[in-house]
Amino acid sequence: MGGVPRFWRSIDNRYRLIGTRCKNCGEVFFPPRVVCPNCRSDGEMEEVQLSGRGEVYTYSVVRVPPEGFEDKAPYVVAVVKLEEGPLVTAMIVDCEPGEIDVGTPVEAVFRRISEDGEDGVIYYSLEFRPVREG
Ligand SMILES: [Zn+2]
Repeated sequence: MGGVPRFWRSIDNRYRLIGTRCKNCGEVFFPPRVVCPNCRSDGEMEEVQLSGRGEVYTYSVVRVPPEGFEDKAPYVVAVVKLEEGPLVTAMIVDCEPGEIDVGTPVEAVFRRISEDGEDGVIYYSLEFRPVREG
């Protein structure tokens, strides 16, 4: 045991948005945690499939972006409250900043950002986009 939890070794699992749920208190965590911060060692964790759906909890519009993101500005960075409860900070894509408000329903999307040539690890960034009806 020890080292990196196995969920971080699996691209598939990250793509599928796996979190963990404490069997003791029921709280869901994303990214997955090995130990429940509420229950410590009393809580046994189980993996749960997250829906990837949630709503904007709070957000800000970034107009002066950090280096490397110049072509994306202005963009929205939001704290998304997932259906299962965890809060995730991520960029909101496929939208105009004016479309986003507190409570806007969003869904997770994964964007391939880079591939490590040596060991072939592929890095994904988790982003969200507004859920559009119809
Ligand atoms: Zn717990």
